[in-house]
Amino acid sequence: MALTIGVDVGGTKIAAGVVDENGEILARTRVPTPADPQWAVDAIAQAVRELREQYPAVVGVGVGAPGFVDRERSTVIFAPNIAWENEPLKTRIEELTGLVTVVENDANCAAWAEFRFGAAAGHSDMVLITVGTGIGGGIVLDGRLHRGRFGVAGEIGHLNMVPDGLLCGCGGKGCWEQYGSGRALRRYGREKAAADPIAGKRMLELNDGAAETIRGIHITEAAQDGDPLALECYDELADWLGRGLADLAALFDPGVFVLGGGVSDSGRLLLDPVAKAYEQYLTGGVHRPRAEVVLASMGSAAGIVGAGDLARI
Ligand SMILES: [Zn+2]
Repeated sequence: MALTIGVDVGGTKIAAGVVDENGEILARTRVPTPADPQWAVDAIAQAVRELREQYPAVVGVGVGAPGFVDRERSTVIFAPNIAWENEPLKTRIEELTGLVTVVENDANCAAWAEFRFGAAAGHSDMVLITVGTGIGGGIVLDGRLHRGRFGVAGEIGHLNMVPDGLLCGCGGKGCWEQYGSGRALRRYGREKAAADPIAGKRMLELNDGAAETIRGIHITEAAQDGDPLALECYDELADWLGRGLADLAALFDPGVFVLGGGVSDSGRLLLDPVAKAYEQYLTGGVHRPRAEVVLASMGSAAGIVGAGDLARI
């Protein structure tokens, strides 16, 4: 069985693992992401060497990077969190390890893992939506990862949803992730609890009475207790997510939407209202088959497994 190494490069940590053809991780390692962009390259190579010592039979490396990666799966065009710009990562890792290397966008890796081994297994067309601090995504069409002409497809968090809306980290205004992400959920909680402290009592209690520092965890816990205002926050978040899913269905007609990322840890609390809003906004809703909306199942392993598996292709 051909083994590969998958590397998940995050803003704070680099996680790597030996991945087999069934998507199982046989060994893992992780190190903090160095602040210097070139040291980050060295740290990836070091993690690969460490795993290769345990499994000398590995045949290749897949690196999932948080940013724009070119269509040739070779150069990181731009990765703001690591300060990489036109970084020839494939060549560098190959020089440092002697192993054939491919570089992929990290969300594409996660989507591929869900498609091959996770919640979208058995489907031919899927879209992964990662709902974390922002919104990320990956698209698989006809069994193939959709990279686009320049390799940067799937930046779904920056769909322009609201004309002249909230300023986004990308420099644009009104991007989807300003309304449908974990950060947006937090904003809804803070605004609603500040506007109506009596209705927001439960969320406020969980944060020692301070509305302006309420976090997602407080909203989730209050919502799980059935608190109406916290549930309203989730409904607002879900409404925006459902709108976006309906747009994505109009474009790609997938068989399944997979919801991943930290906010999806809240499970049905997120899934049920998103599925409902999606059905409500879907164009031609009653006259067309509808994609399922499901939760991701690969968890934090998705980045490593997807990167490792894409190194085989
Ligand atoms: Zn944006």
